[in-house]
Amino acid sequence: MSDTIFGKIVAGEVPAEFIYEDEHCVAIHDISPQAPVHVLVIPRKAIPKLADAAEEDGELLGQLMLAAGRVARQLGVDDAFRLIVNNGEGAGQTVFHLHLHIIAGRSFAEGRM
Ligand code: 5GP
Repeated sequence: MSDTIFGKIVAGEVPAEFIYEDEHCVAIHDISPQAPVHVLVIPRKAIPKLADAAEEDGELLGQLMLAAGRVARQLGVDDAFRLIVNNGEGAGQTVFHLHLHIIAGRSFAEGRM
């Protein structure tokens, strides 16, 4: 658990609609979507940022990617989605509880992030 908003969400202290959950993570719609589909995959374990992950987190990181694929399939966007991890303030990270962004439903053809 962590005292960030995502720590509170995974702990059930702040209500949120889980569109997916398993033993490793939950997925919720982003409150401020940057695309028609913008979902956050949040591990139950609080790791502040990707660079803080340890060797022992390797399996968890793989499980997060697998969960992202399942969520994308569930939402019907598994043929075209982008997975983003912002690591650190300079990269735009605002919530220091590791999470993956699934972005889909708009064109990525221009190479725009
Ligand atoms: P970051 O910038 O840390 O990579 O991403 C944090 C994301 O969390 C942002 O896209 C922001 O809109 C989203 N967010 C922040 N607070 C909440 C919240 O309380 N609920 C949900 N669903 N999303 C949130």
